[in-house]
Amino acid sequence: MENITEVLYNSTRSKGKPVTASQAILKGLSDDGGLFVPDHIPALTKSPAELSAMNYKQVAYEVMKLFLTDLTEEELKSCIDKAYDSKFDTEVIAPLVEAQGAYYLELFHGSTIAFKDMALSILPHLLITSARKNQIKNEIVILTATSGDTGKAALAGFAGVEGTRIIVFYPKNGVSPIQEKQMVTQKGDNTFVVGIHGNFDDAQTGVKKIFSDKEFAEELDAKGFQFSSANSINIGRLVPQVCYYVYAYAQLLKEGKITEGEKINVVVPTGNFGNILAAFYAKNMGLPIHKLICASNENKVLYDFFRTGTYDRNREFVLTSSPSMDILISSNLERLIYHIAGDNADKNKELMASLGGQGRYEISAGMREELKDFYGNFASEEETAEEIARLYRACGYVLDTHTSVASAVYRKYIAETGDTTKTVIASTASPFKFTRSVMNAIDKKYDAMSDLELVDELSGLANVKIPGAIEEIRTAPVVHDHQCEVDEMKDAVKGFLGV
Ligand SMILES: *Cc1c(COP(=O)(O)O)cnc(C)c1O
Repeated sequence: MENITEVLYNSTRSKGKPVTASQAILKGLSDDGGLFVPDHIPALTKSPAELSAMNYKQVAYEVMKLFLTDLTEEELKSCIDKAYDSKFDTEVIAPLVEAQGAYYLELFHGSTIAFKDMALSILPHLLITSARKNQIKNEIVILTATSGDTGKAALAGFAGVEGTRIIVFYPKNGVSPIQEKQMVTQKGDNTFVVGIHGNFDDAQTGVKKIFSDKEFAEELDAKGFQFSSANSINIGRLVPQVCYYVYAYAQLLKEGKITEGEKINVVVPTGNFGNILAAFYAKNMGLPIHKLICASNENKVLYDFFRTGTYDRNREFVLTSSPSMDILISSNLERLIYHIAGDNADKNKELMASLGGQGRYEISAGMREELKDFYGNFASEEETAEEIARLYRACGYVLDTHTSVASAVYRKYIAETGDTTKTVIASTASPFKFTRSVMNAIDKKYDAMSDLELVDELSGLANVKIPGAIEEIRTAPVVHDHQCEVDEMKDAVKGFLGV
């Protein structure tokens, strides 16, 4: 038997009593507004050679058991089995594709063809397991406001999961036609989708208001319900993301692309900083990673941060062709700040207060020193489109816009450093999810075609089968047609729960 040390979770903003993993998953956010962080990063207990003989689920278990120490082997394995099944269109779950001297780790083979499926397909199971562990009898009601992608991934994850219900609010006129179609065709009696007459901020503010309504919470508790969140700051979304970096390393070793112990670089197209933080955790578990390369689009607040040590959100918000990275406050960066301050909650709280007040903060020279394993850069809209075209012409491989940002940044990194370390690029979405931008990058003539024509065109050109997620929305019937005003959101929740 291996000896596993218990991991407890602290808030990034105060030194209160630590909580267990299951409690951290249930709560999502700490009461003081901080994020939960592990009290230490556990070291891998299996060697890369041992891991290279395992499939995705087995590797996931070896990683997650070290973080989620109050779940039993049976509980965790059951969660993993239910998550990484035929919802994914490949048994490999996360294939590595070699193209033009880099390894693209395809994280988009789940039900909504973006990498958020990697975590949102397991979070519902971790959540109900955690509820049972903590003697919670209520049904868990997930409330989410979405600007498009998270909503569908959360719906797909929670649909049909016993003991849960999910309610998604989206801006009726603020998401793409494909995104709306994906949501309103979502099956499952426990799902509820509402278009609100307002923008994304209105939806988000409305959801926060319902969350903080203590009276409503008591009323619901009496009826056997309680709210929870599927937001990306939940530790139950972060930990599952560590697994695919370990898996990628093991696959490179298995295929003889690297030798045991050889270091690799990791490039991550970044928005909220969750995915790259998972790679940072993997490195701190002992996975041989050299550089963590953080790729931004024109919202390059992180690039400026790595370059200057100052985080400053006071700037214009740019709408780009990689919308899931259009973010000026990267929530998960708070966890890194806490760690590089020496797990110092007071220091972190001070910096976050400055971010809340002035919209900026500056870290100390000592903290900057701790960032030496990170490299940050960004790609402009033009560079992103050029990289899609370049790779397609060179080898026929078609990237989505987000992955292209990462790929373009990797070219800049090589040009600057001459580093020849083998490199894994996190491929976060299928090109079919952003067909118009992708096809326009390859040839302007495609702009004249309809979205559905473009899908067929892309399939032929990339020689890739149209993903089920796209085929489905062509024919799936609309099952949600609810709309409401911003001030009617609470009533909509009541209506769905029947209270
Ligand atoms: C969410 C998302 C990202 C950004 O990931 P973070 O963990 O928020 O940094 C990148 N690409 C795609 C396609 C996404 O959906």
